[in-house]
Amino acid sequence: MTVETLKIEEIVKKVLVEMTAKSQKPQETLGIFQDMNEAVEAAWIAQKELVKFDLKTRGKFIEAMRKEAKKNVELLSKMAYEETNMGRYEDKVSKNIVAIEKTPGIEDLKPDVYSGDDGLTLIELSPYGVIGSITPTTNPSETIICNAIGMIAAGNSVVFSPHPSATKTSLKTVEILNKSIIDAGGPSNLLTTVSNPSLEQADIMIKHKKVNMLVATGGPAVVKAVLSSGKKAIGAGAGNPPAVVDETADIEKAARDIIAGCSFDNNLPCVAEKEVIVVDSVADYLIFNMKKSGAYELKDPELILKLQKMIVGENGYPVKEFVGKNADYILGKMGIECDDCVRAIIMEVPKDHPFVVGELMMPVLPIVRVKDVQEAIELAVSVEHGFRHTAIMHSKNIDTLTQFAKEIQTTIFVKNGPSFAGIGVGGEGYATFTIAGPTGEGLTSAKSFARRRRCTLVGGFAIK
Ligand code: NAD
Repeated sequence: MTVETLKIEEIVKKVLVEMTAKSQKPQETLGIFQDMNEAVEAAWIAQKELVKFDLKTRGKFIEAMRKEAKKNVELLSKMAYEETNMGRYEDKVSKNIVAIEKTPGIEDLKPDVYSGDDGLTLIELSPYGVIGSITPTTNPSETIICNAIGMIAAGNSVVFSPHPSATKTSLKTVEILNKSIIDAGGPSNLLTTVSNPSLEQADIMIKHKKVNMLVATGGPAVVKAVLSSGKKAIGAGAGNPPAVVDETADIEKAARDIIAGCSFDNNLPCVAEKEVIVVDSVADYLIFNMKKSGAYELKDPELILKLQKMIVGENGYPVKEFVGKNADYILGKMGIECDDCVRAIIMEVPKDHPFVVGELMMPVLPIVRVKDVQEAIELAVSVEHGFRHTAIMHSKNIDTLTQFAKEIQTTIFVKNGPSFAGIGVGGEGYATFTIAGPTGEGLTSAKSFARRRRCTLVGGFAIK
């Protein structure tokens, strides 16, 4: 054997050893697991790692998540639009941006302090541990981004159970956020999920011993599922937001705001205007201005009935094919051709019409005419069904604005603006995509995902 041959053999051996070592190194999963039990275990380990970092570093992880999500906004919006076949791409971009930029981080965790003759008591906000978060199809990446920021800011890790119809978008969002945390020096698997989400996998997560808290963002079934789990749970459920317009309102602005709000992402947001209740004396002028703002009015009762039969199923729920679709698509299916400048379809209907009492989640906006503002308030309270979600009022009368807000008891009450102002888009305040009406946390943020712990120092440190 020549010296050359020996050298070549040595090189081949070295390369083989390196290749074997590489193939044995555990694959970086970026949080996606085959099995829910594995996803929970990995998140549990990651949370123990997270709390070893100081708060400043935790803040850096949050900033890295925002930065990486921002870079991928267009991708995630496009994926959600194509995968769910609902909504509007450009509105999904806006919703993702608001989730990235306006969801509070660690600054939300303000302690409470009592000090006096007996010393100093501190109420600190501490993590729950692993949070199980169930997310909807209507805002898939937005809810994951928003919950991930708030839950990690509070020191938790998160196991997501996404809607099966938004699997690809949800998994991609988890991967992007996890990668940003790892690149910033943080632990792997702070966010986990499964490659094939299903109700069965969600059930494993809900019952898993290592999941300490549950957060459900969706319709009534999922809220019920987490509230009956026996664990600490936050329920962010359905809404049916009424928009009331009285005779004192700026009618032209009210019409613009209502059409903007109800057509945003084709009415998918749970806060979006779902029915209008207007005082008779200004109803015609409101409808005239809604049409100027891009609404198409259906007047013929037969056409309204045809639309009803098409979009509301026999079970009383909206037909899936039309949820989140463009107004021109829905009209086209009725044989009415129009261009995509039409943002919403409006029609006058009686107060007990299925369009009024049910949540349609499409740009079909029923209008109910009433004799005065008292009747409007009474009807709005009734069709909101006690969900305590969102209501909107266009009025200049402080007394009736106050009366409606008191009587309807919704988590969000928007005065003289589009519904989305209530989640921080063109309105003051932070953003969230998990609005917890049933359990009362309201617009959730990091502090909603933290335990309150009291630490008492007796007889000292009070320096008043
Ligand atoms: P959905 O209720 O069909 O699904 C939501 C999530 O719950 C999905 O991940 C789904 O797989 C899961 N799920 C459903 N039933 C379940 C059960 N029994 N056990 C475990 N998991 C279950 O809702 P959707 O169509 O995705 O979203 C639209 C609904 O969600 C609307 O009613 C809307 O108002 C509401 N929503 C509320 C908020 C809020 O913050 N309050 C935000 C977004 C959507």
